[in-house]
Amino acid sequence: MTTPAWSDVWDRAEGDARARDLFARTFGTAPQGVRSAPGRVNLIGEHTDYNDGLALPIALPHRTYAAVARRDDDLVRLVSAQEPTGVREVRLADAAPGTVSGWASYVVGVAWALREAGHDVGGFDVAIDSCVPFGAGLSSSAALEASVAVALDALHGLGLAGEVDPAGAPTDDAGRAVLATLCVRAENEMAGAPTGGMDQAASLRARAGHALLLDCRDGRVRHVPLDLAAHGLALLVVDTRAEHAHVGGEYAQRRAACDEAARRLGVASLRDVVDGPAALDALTGGPDGDVLARRVRHVVTEIARVTAFVDALDAGDVRAVAPLMDASHTSLRDDYEVSCRELDVAVDAARRAGALGARMTGGGFGGSAIALVRAGDVARVAGAVAAAFAGQHLAPPALTVAVAGPPAG
Ligand code: ADP
Ligand code: MG
Repeated sequence: MTTPAWSDVWDRAEGDARARDLFARTFGTAPQGVRSAPGRVNLIGEHTDYNDGLALPIALPHRTYAAVARRDDDLVRLVSAQEPTGVREVRLADAAPGTVSGWASYVVGVAWALREAGHDVGGFDVAIDSCVPFGAGLSSSAALEASVAVALDALHGLGLAGEVDPAGAPTDDAGRAVLATLCVRAENEMAGAPTGGMDQAASLRARAGHALLLDCRDGRVRHVPLDLAAHGLALLVVDTRAEHAHVGGEYAQRRAACDEAARRLGVASLRDVVDGPAALDALTGGPDGDVLARRVRHVVTEIARVTAFVDALDAGDVRAVAPLMDASHTSLRDDYEVSCRELDVAVDAARRAGALGARMTGGGFGGSAIALVRAGDVARVAGAVAAAFAGQHLAPPALTVAVAGPPAG
């Protein structure tokens, strides 16, 4: 059996110390404080957020840490342990879409979006360190934005982030919804990544021990209790470490296809397509009709699967979610066409080794897969997935057992 590689998770003290240390080494003083924010993994509801649909992410124990201190000018100086390019400097007065490149655009973007919304945010120094896997479909970008958002909230006394109570629940969801929207603006307009709102909502608005049911039509959330261990189960996350070219282009094409289908169907968004089969008939015909019909079928059936998944959790019938995960993967692979060889290998190997259900998660074309496994089977399923990758001459995946952690704070 191939020995699986497990990804590193830092506890809060370690993340805090690393960010403080980087800050002190870089700027020669101590930071005023450290805030952190989690990556996320989506249980079900993929490519639904930009269709006003439903999604069901959890916050991961993997977090991004931001050590910050105020400045009395409008300069932002930033450094990241994950970016060996040294210190970047940006004047907030000069910050606008298209002016800041690379990773700095996510950080400066948050300050820019806060200022655009009328908040009094000045210059700051920030040092970033993170154990959220990069580009693994686990949302390191939203973890970065959210860590900076809550750090700036504390630094400038904005009063939006509230607290996280001892049970791991945010005390001010309305304020966090505002921060999430501003983080989306940062990612869309400053970083130029046209993502939906699920990642930022998960990082800022999730609750420990719960999945976050997010309704992307109105931004409303519900915390759904999720205690897999109590049911003798575990959630295995497989980071395929696959990197495929054209991911951004494929994502933009899927969004454009959904917009075009909604236009032809005369609805504001695909969320409004409740009568799937009739809608599909209306789309077929024309050179792209069959493709659009399959895209719509994925979105409509996936939204229904989120509802069924939550119903199963509410009823305490956790194992009933497994076939929904399998159906989600099939739909993403065949109708939405966003899977790839590595994701299919991970899902198939996990199922063959006894996973109850498995699916790709995140946008696709690489990134991560998740598998629902009996707690006693975690090591065996992980080993089988690692062996399948080795057998297919794929680079070794990184594995994690995910539990629903607390939000940014
Ligand atoms: P994902 O969010 O799935 O991890 P993305 O492509 O959306 O992948 O975001 C990854 C990008 O976010 C990186 O290329 C980098 O620009 C930025 N980023 C994320 N985490 C960090 C970090 N700790 N330090 C610097 N940049 C980061
Ligand atoms: Mg991202």
